[in-house]
Amino acid sequence: MEKYDFAIIGGGLLGTSISYWISSLYDVKIVVIEKESDVGMHTSSRNTGVVHSPFYLNPDKKGKIARAAFLSHEMWKIFAQKKNLPYKTVGTLEVALDEAQHKVLEKYLVWGPKNGMNENDMELLDGTDVKKREPNVESYSAIFCKTDSVVDYGAFTRKLKEESQKNGTKFLVNSKVETVENINNETVLTLSNTKQTHSRYVINCAGGYSLDIAKKFGLLTDYGSLHFRGEYWIAEKEYANLARTNIYSVPNYQDFPFLDPHWILRVDGKSEIGPNAVPVPSPETYSGYVGDIEVFISKLSEVLTTNTRKLLFNPDFMSLVSKEWLSSVSKSVMIERVQRFLPKVKPEFFSERGTAGIRTPIITPDGKFVSDAMELEGPNSYHILNYNSPGATGAPAYSAYLIQTLQEKGILDKRTKPKDSIWNFENIK
Ligand SMILES: Cc1cc2nc3c(=O)[nH]c(=O)nc-3n(C[C@H](O)[C@H](O)[C@H](O)COP(=O)(O)OP(=O)(O)OC[C@H]3O[C@@H](n4cnc5c(N)ncnc54)[C@H](O)[C@@H]3O)c2cc1C
Repeated sequence: MEKYDFAIIGGGLLGTSISYWISSLYDVKIVVIEKESDVGMHTSSRNTGVVHSPFYLNPDKKGKIARAAFLSHEMWKIFAQKKNLPYKTVGTLEVALDEAQHKVLEKYLVWGPKNGMNENDMELLDGTDVKKREPNVESYSAIFCKTDSVVDYGAFTRKLKEESQKNGTKFLVNSKVETVENINNETVLTLSNTKQTHSRYVINCAGGYSLDIAKKFGLLTDYGSLHFRGEYWIAEKEYANLARTNIYSVPNYQDFPFLDPHWILRVDGKSEIGPNAVPVPSPETYSGYVGDIEVFISKLSEVLTTNTRKLLFNPDFMSLVSKEWLSSVSKSVMIERVQRFLPKVKPEFFSERGTAGIRTPIITPDGKFVSDAMELEGPNSYHILNYNSPGATGAPAYSAYLIQTLQEKGILDKRTKPKDSIWNFENIK
């Protein structure tokens, strides 16, 4: 039986970043518990790979993750330089297809600086100027964001794990947290391999399973979650240059936490379209629609017996879901959505699927999507849920904010290690 000061559940980008900060600032015993054979094997590797500039995030609804994304942008650039990892600044064109969408872009021009961005990093273009920049793109207008970049977040997670290990963090892989008990004011986690860990404090960063873990601590028992798979198609080599920047469009459904499929450049030189948002029964149903039949039935009964079912009576939600299903079943339907702004793309240009990833938005007891990342304190524990896009971008600053919160609560004291760090903790405000 091993004893730790901090046990972090989940070795994604968030859990790994938190372990890095604590281990570089404090002399404490930390363990990261990960059920897979390595860190970053789920959402942290299965995403679009964009280091987002937060111009499209409403500061009143997503202020914390937006600010974290803004600060982390430079932090990831420094990390990539110091650790020799690929980082390409490619820019993003966020296109409006009509006057109504153009009005949304005007809001983005205000939100960007409110989230910390320099206004010179965004440029409003009319349709003609857009064509000069990207001859194949049709639009009414667009914002060109110069700073957006692309990376491999899976590689970032693995490298950050190495840095955290150098500071003394232990990574327990192939270890799924099964049960949680409180014994003599310590939390005892029993793992799938029958091992146990004892710790003074637990941080729950279990991604798509973070609500399940919170429930094991007796928290959020009246909350639900849904899982939406984002699928991609890879452009064949000769069509990879149809556009040389990322092309996003103003989302049709502003009230739901998904963007419409976009044209994206990968850091390895490939171009893809995606992701859509197809409802699936678990955070790891990467193919098919039903997955494990027991999991499917349990998810279905959870939706039908909790207030999540209220979403089934929301016509906008049901219309979005049916559209997303269609775009999963039919490649042509997915391509049609991109053809609205990139008319030259054709289904036959895409013969291989990309790596799908799954978002898990949290649903409140009154059947609404939680808009920002969600934090909650429990008995000797802290829980981060709904940590969705741009969570990969925001991870270094967001996890530093978490350290500040734990300091304010007296769970961590003033820093005890004068260690060199990749980033300067004092700069994160
Ligand atoms: C389709 C898609 C596209 C995206 N694109 C972008 C993008 O371009 N830019 C961006 O900034 N963000 C993007 N995101 C969001 C970003 O990828 C996530 O916010 C981020 O990766 C979340 O990291 P995490 O550590 O919270 O979760 P994860 O990476 O999922 O890590 C959670 C870990 O917990 C482990 N775990 C779960 N349960 C247990 C248990 N019981 N015991 C032990 N371990 C457990 C899992 O195995 C997993 O490794 C995208 C997300 C999706 C789905």
